[in-house]
Amino acid sequence: MLPFVIYAVSKMSYIGRFAPSPSGHLHFGSLIAAVGSYLQAKSQQGKWLVRIEDIDPPREQPGAANAILRTLERYHLFWDDEVVYQSQRTARYEEILSELFKQQQVYYCHCTRAQIQAAGGFYPGTCRDHHVPANHAAIRLKVDSGCSHFNDQILGHIQVDHDLSQEDFILKRRDGLFAYNLAVVIDDHDSGITEIVRGADLLEPTVRQITLFETLGWSAPQWMHLPLAIQSNGLKLSKQNHAPAIDDLPVMETLVQVLQFLGQALPQDVVDMTPTELLQYAIQHWDIHLIPKQSQHSQPFAIVTSTD
Ligand SMILES: [Zn+2]
Repeated sequence: MLPFVIYAVSKMSYIGRFAPSPSGHLHFGSLIAAVGSYLQAKSQQGKWLVRIEDIDPPREQPGAANAILRTLERYHLFWDDEVVYQSQRTARYEEILSELFKQQQVYYCHCTRAQIQAAGGFYPGTCRDHHVPANHAAIRLKVDSGCSHFNDQILGHIQVDHDLSQEDFILKRRDGLFAYNLAVVIDDHDSGITEIVRGADLLEPTVRQITLFETLGWSAPQWMHLPLAIQSNGLKLSKQNHAPAIDDLPVMETLVQVLQFLGQALPQDVVDMTPTELLQYAIQHWDIHLIPKQSQHSQPFAIVTSTD
């Protein structure tokens, strides 16, 4: 048995994930993130996990979590291990929050969105030293040296605007819901995620998540932000913009469109293939250098990317 154990710990294994929120069914834009993260994991003999980000009940659609999983299966995107539901992990989020309180790295804040807008858009740390009461307060992280740059596998070196990098951001909202950035960092750490592959609309959360990884003393994963599918009206394909669900689209044609969008080579005989064969081909030929970089206009305002 011993040689096997030594082999298992000496080989750095890849763990990737796809983490949809059940605010609607999967659309073409989210399928790009699913396929991209799946191919990146499988091309490295890694695991591909699925996590349902269901910690924002007001934005959820009944039945959407199940519909998303059935759609992934329909596209032959089969995940490893058990699906993680964020709604079942709130005790863990509380545990980390109280740890941060003990270390005096978080504080309560009563400021409204309007007050922050009036102060210039970024939160200026108003409540940091005011010891405001806990009831109906948000919880913010004290950011003293936030993430100022990071490397993206597709976009290259990303320089972060100072105001964004240094902002004390929210870990728990005034309405009592856990913030996306808190839940995601704890989950990705606990699942041992080694690389996060997702849409370029999440570059800004990435900055905050790197800051939180560092505050918690956890090593951050690698990052890869995929280009976003843009509708003909210039809006990104998203649930908020009422992108059509892909549940009923033909599987092979849609997978081919996703691979084309990601700049990947297609086989000659694609019409004779099954979805499993096409995905197998895509895993073998997966080349991240062929993925187009995100178009300029949908970059978050505070982030400058330099491509080298
Ligand atoms: Zn405040």
